[in-house]
Amino acid sequence: MYLPIDLHTHSTASDGSLTPQELVAHAAAAGIKTLALTDHDVTDGLAAATAAAEKEQIKLINGIELSVSWRQRTIHLVGLNINPDHQPLQDVLTKLRTFRNWRAQEMGRRLEKKGIPGAYEWVSSRVRGEILSRTHFAQFLVDAGKASSVNDVFKHYLKPGKPGFVPGEWTSLEEALEVLIGAGGQVVIAHPARYKLTMTKLNELIDDFRTGGGHGLEVVSGSHSKDDSYRMAAIVKKRGLLASAGSDFHDPESPWIALGKLPQLPDSCRAIWHDWDFN
Ligand code: AMP
Ligand code: MN
Ligand code: MN
Ligand code: MN
Repeated sequence: MYLPIDLHTHSTASDGSLTPQELVAHAAAAGIKTLALTDHDVTDGLAAATAAAEKEQIKLINGIELSVSWRQRTIHLVGLNINPDHQPLQDVLTKLRTFRNWRAQEMGRRLEKKGIPGAYEWVSSRVRGEILSRTHFAQFLVDAGKASSVNDVFKHYLKPGKPGFVPGEWTSLEEALEVLIGAGGQVVIAHPARYKLTMTKLNELIDDFRTGGGHGLEVVSGSHSKDDSYRMAAIVKKRGLLASAGSDFHDPESPWIALGKLPQLPDSCRAIWHDWDFN
């Protein structure tokens, strides 16, 4: 039995390839009954997704994936059941989008210096929402024939130390937690195994996260192996955290896990949705 819940997905409001309406229809067809739309640093898709979910008779959770800088690393937090009208949250989102716009122009300049012109123009003319993401630059580079897959582009152009990578500061962990919790949300660390932190560092991240009021970890994730999930399940149990599950779905063509195929949480976990009202 797959989970009928998916609490981490993207639409064209950020770097996904389906509109919020298409995403909801796709999720409903895949057997999902509770879906969180968690676009990067933007809440613009939520209204359309909610309307579509009513039609499909599934439950839409207002979510977001926030980009955070913690000790020189980028960490993603997923906020669930947030009120998108919370002004301090929107103020942080505006700041993040301003940084993204500057970063995208800088990525364009850096790629041009490496003999690849036109990236910023291509990306800004094709993006459907307000978010300029590395995913869009990856699509440009594949389209320009610079690499054979998006994954390849990240490896050669967009990872730290590569020509198209622009370092910078997102929002702080403390501020992210403050505005997400202020917006009434529950907060989980997205795909915690993906950061490749040592146990010591991961525990330090969790210490800071808990101090700021954070609630849980994504135990089941489209980018976790089975082992990763069991490791994270042991950590949530030990630290008294809640467990979340999300595919991190972006695109039906991509090799990440398909919608509706998330495995159940390990038995030892307390699900973040254990006290949600499903009526
Ligand atoms: P950004 O937030 O603009 O820095 O872009 C990060 C996004 O890039 C992530 O949310 C993923 O969707 C995508 N991404 C990161 N690494 C990879 C990868 N190796 N292959 C494909 N997509 C990736
Ligand atoms: Mn993404
Ligand atoms: Mn992420
Ligand atoms: Mn994501």
